[in-house]
Amino acid sequence: EESKTICVGCGVAIQTEEKDQLGYAPPSSLTRDVVTCQRCFRLKHYNEVQDVSLTDDDFLRILNGLGQKDALIVKVVDIFDFTGSWLPGIHRFVGKNEVLLVGNKVDLLPKSLNQNRLKNWMKKSAKDLGLKPIDVMLMSAEKGQGVVEIATEIDRLRKGKDVFVVGCTNVGKSTFINQMIKTFGGDTEQLITTSHFPGTTLDMIDIPLDDGKALYDTPGIINHHQMAHHIDKNELKIITPKKEIKPMVFQLNEGQTLFFGGLGRFDFTQGERTSFTCYCSNDIHIHRTKREKAEELYEQHLGELLTPPGEETKETLPPLVKHTFQIKDKKSDIVFSGLGWVTVNGQNVKVELRP
Ligand code: GDP
Repeated sequence: EESKTICVGCGVAIQTEEKDQLGYAPPSSLTRDVVTCQRCFRLKHYNEVQDVSLTDDDFLRILNGLGQKDALIVKVVDIFDFTGSWLPGIHRFVGKNEVLLVGNKVDLLPKSLNQNRLKNWMKKSAKDLGLKPIDVMLMSAEKGQGVVEIATEIDRLRKGKDVFVVGCTNVGKSTFINQMIKTFGGDTEQLITTSHFPGTTLDMIDIPLDDGKALYDTPGIINHHQMAHHIDKNELKIITPKKEIKPMVFQLNEGQTLFFGGLGRFDFTQGERTSFTCYCSNDIHIHRTKREKAEELYEQHLGELLTPPGEETKETLPPLVKHTFQIKDKKSDIVFSGLGWVTVNGQNVKVELRP
């Protein structure tokens, strides 16, 4: 049997292949007497937390443990990929604990957007997924926007209890924790410690709070529904907004279709001429066509005119599945998780969505 090298910091088995995965250390470090995984190395030398993804088993163990604690849970989601970045089953795992839901990356939203509407939408969507958060807040972890407000709210809501920050990979959880350390931590060397989470091989980052309690950064998990798993890194760059998105308005007649690259299709199937505002990465090409031609266009041009996906990733892309919406309200948002959303500026219309 192959002998395993273990990280002196957290005890995880060292591997040298996958940089984003638990236990990674550069191959050159294996020659040393003691080996430290990259995550522990960065924590020790740069006071910086790095997110690693866990195996489903370890992650489930951590989540299961949460219900047995008396703590405040802070759940971070990516507002551009709400469903994709949801942790399925989270409402069961948290037990009786209260959950503060935090939507990250608001810096990407157009300034004109009503943030209260977004918060209400998040509240409702969470409820549909079985979770009733005690509060919903928005932030930009990267720009530091809203972070002080959230820290204040965390301190109020925790009522002297520990805090666990959870979220799947890529929602910006590490950026958030690092921003908190920057904002509130004086001497970070003293500030961050790690503590062992029962039942897992992994230590958690633990930031002491002033009453002897701690804020724990739990490792993220890859959610296999995330768009990131269907397309490659470069394509992901295209669909991930990098700066404030510019809404695009389309006046459509009944029977017209919009393609969001080849990753989403939006059909206006019934109603008077209506304007639709699309919120997505400025780099995604939105292609307008006639509904009767849409099928053929998709079959023939997926991967080139309708891109991303590319020629290669299109092969593994799951088929677009149709959802029909009957819209009665004046202004409704239809969300393509991972891509963005469309605001329908009209009422009594019928649309079809194929994410
Ligand atoms: P984690 O896997 O949840 O720890 O996520 P990271 O903190 O590593 O962030 C994932 C990606 O999202 C990185 O590319 C970050 O630069 C980006 N990101 C994090 N926070 C923000 C934010 O507030 N705004 C924007 N635009 N990007 C962010």
